[in-house]
Amino acid sequence: MIRLVSCITEQHNWALLLVAVCVCAAGNLAAVFMLSRARQCVKAHRNLWLAVAGTVLGGTIWATHFIAMLSYNIPVTYQITETGLSIVVAVAISCLAAFTALYVPGRQGAVAAGILLGLAIATMHAIGLSAISASVFMEADQTTVIAAWLLGGVFAVGSMLLLVREITGGRLVFAALLIVAAVCSHHLVSMGGLSVTPLNAGAAEALTFLDRVGIAVGVCIVSSLLIATGVAALFFDRHLTDVKGLANATFEAVVLTRAGQIVHANERFAALTGRPVAELKSLFLDDFLTDRQRSQGVLKSLDGPLPIEIVEGVIEYRGRETSVFGLRDISERLETNRQLTYLASHDPLTGLLNRRSFNSQSEATIAETRAGGTSAALLTLDLDGFKSINDVHGHADGDLVLQQVAEVLNGSFDEPAFSGRIGGDEFSVMLPGYQALEAQQAASVFMSKFKSMFGKNEKGGALGVSVGIATFPEHGDDLKQLQNNADAALYRAKSLGKGRICAFDRFLDQQVRTRRRLEEELRGAVKAKELFLLYQPIVDAISAETKGYEALLRWRHPTYGVLPPAVFIEAAEESGSIVEIGKWVLEEACRQAASWNNRLFVAVNVSARQLLSPDLFEHVTDALNTSRLSSERLELEITETSLLVDRTDVASSLEALTSLGVKLVMDDYGTGYSSVSNLRRYPFSKVKIDRTFVATLGEDPVAEVFIDCALALGKRLGLTVVVEGIESEQQRARLNGKAPDLLQGFLFGRPGVITTRIATLENVILLPKAPKPASTLR
Ligand code: C2E
Ligand code: MG
Ligand code: MG
Repeated sequence: MIRLVSCITEQHNWALLLVAVCVCAAGNLAAVFMLSRARQCVKAHRNLWLAVAGTVLGGTIWATHFIAMLSYNIPVTYQITETGLSIVVAVAISCLAAFTALYVPGRQGAVAAGILLGLAIATMHAIGLSAISASVFMEADQTTVIAAWLLGGVFAVGSMLLLVREITGGRLVFAALLIVAAVCSHHLVSMGGLSVTPLNAGAAEALTFLDRVGIAVGVCIVSSLLIATGVAALFFDRHLTDVKGLANATFEAVVLTRAGQIVHANERFAALTGRPVAELKSLFLDDFLTDRQRSQGVLKSLDGPLPIEIVEGVIEYRGRETSVFGLRDISERLETNRQLTYLASHDPLTGLLNRRSFNSQSEATIAETRAGGTSAALLTLDLDGFKSINDVHGHADGDLVLQQVAEVLNGSFDEPAFSGRIGGDEFSVMLPGYQALEAQQAASVFMSKFKSMFGKNEKGGALGVSVGIATFPEHGDDLKQLQNNADAALYRAKSLGKGRICAFDRFLDQQVRTRRRLEEELRGAVKAKELFLLYQPIVDAISAETKGYEALLRWRHPTYGVLPPAVFIEAAEESGSIVEIGKWVLEEACRQAASWNNRLFVAVNVSARQLLSPDLFEHVTDALNTSRLSSERLELEITETSLLVDRTDVASSLEALTSLGVKLVMDDYGTGYSSVSNLRRYPFSKVKIDRTFVATLGEDPVAEVFIDCALALGKRLGLTVVVEGIESEQQRARLNGKAPDLLQGFLFGRPGVITTRIATLENVILLPKAPKPASTLR
């Protein structure tokens, strides 16, 4: 220890020793920062940084030793070879230590690296001493040599262990100081145990103090330059690689330009354009872009034109103002948008335009046609018999048929014509530039293609199509008018027997339009509570006692007042609303009848359309259940004409109803085929001879014969016979001898409102106009 202190205080020049320590501290600080950089940087740069760190570390150890030797107060000379060798060995072993620290994981790596670093210091020191061996005689104390080795090794291992864990600024500084301690302690302790005797022969060549200072300054400058270069590289690398890394980490193509010329591009841009980054640098960004509009453009990519979104900004790059462009591939987004637009504007089943986009395209066509002073035609099409395909074959086949219809449409009308699916089985075609005659011809071509397609198709065998045509400007100035008129023509085509093409005709279609308006208003009549029932008595033919009432429907129209069924029943039948109306009539009639004397029946008229409806049975049972009316008191009147089509499902539905106890009445007998077979086929219990026969009784002998026959037939078949339309006593008297069972007519009471007081069961018929005593409900 005493030798060590005297070695420092007496044998060394303090100032130079201090310089050596400073160089040691600066160099080691730089070296540990480089080591940490090597640990943090991308793999590709790691080895480079380890080599640089090792070199700086080795150089620093050597420079420290060399300047410290210069501060040693003995006359020495230096052998170039050994001096050079000492640098090489110091750098080589330091590099080895640096690589070990990074590549051998955990504490073992740190310890191994520390031992190697200690070895670098010791070996360098030993070779360094041998460089002056020609000018001095040296004798080393083995104990101090071992102590110096151990000290240097322990400090070096300590510093490396510090670098194993998470690296912070403080930890780096501390690690650098430990290496300083390793270098200095090794040097000073081993110098303290060294006896150096100058050899006279070399004294003449020994370095003067000024020489030493000069050499020390030179070494300082060289080592400072080395360290400064490393630190500068450290700084630039950190910042530049960060920018590049960021640019490459993004999924977008990034290009930096100055005056339009590419100064840097990321790997994504290089991949898209198929050129290496280095090659891109001399080119202009505009060479790769076409159709540039503000924030969008098309990139000439390796795989062809690529739609891109362009985001532009300005940054400072390498000290100069630089434009930065982010190019985002938007082909997927555009494709998604295209698909969304397609889905929003097309019918998913047929691929035709949907109603909304057909209308908007039609409006645009009309506007263009108006501006160009030309003409256009609108076809509206409705399938005939599509519902039964759906009902009989199922919806999957129905869908197939609709797709085939779309095929025929697409194959029949060329651009600029366009077709749309407007509703379930309704289609429209707009024919820009077509006049009435051309539109008729085009529709005929379509019709024949349609027939040849569905003539062969067994699923669509029963399928037909009706077409209505309206032309611009003759039949309407805007789309709405054209559509209304084409629809009116279509409606006429359907009512004329379907499978036809009709062009709009102002006169003919006026009636149709009135009818359609009525239909539409009728649809809302039940909800609007505009319908009501009147009741007409049906009396015993002998005693004139009321046996029951027939419910007769009336519509209190907001404009036209109370309308009789003759005005609207047919329209309700055709539009189908009769099913809903009939349901209401059943409910209402049963509800009211339930409050009457329980010997009275109520007769409800049932239309042909209701008979075909699968819901009739349910509607009747619902009405009975809700009203709690006994089923024996309900009679259903079915006109002869509605049984013209022979249907087994109708027969079984009527059977089911009679099995409930409900009675069936054949109404208006004599207006159809006066068929005996219908009276036998269906479970009727009553037959009503139509009033037209009574009206002509006495004038038309056929009427009398018919009434006689019908009465005889009824009797033979065990049916109750009702004669309706008795208006006068004379008519009644004429019937007396014929012995009908029941009578109905204005003579016994007009259709009227029944007010009921259930408690007393006293019922009054309002509006009675019969000369006979008004029927009273008991
Ligand atoms: P309908 O079933 O034959 O009903 C008898 C019709 O003859 C009633 O006409 C009634 O007012 C009328 N009438 C009764 N006695 C006389 C008479 O002495 N002289 C004359 N000239 N007429 C008489 P309304 O109420 O106008 O009904 C006409 C037809 O409308 C009914 O003929 C029936 O087929 C149908 N109808 C009435 N209500 C309904 C209903 O709720 N549903 C259905 N589907 N059809 C109904
Ligand atoms: Mg009737
Ligand atoms: Mg009748």
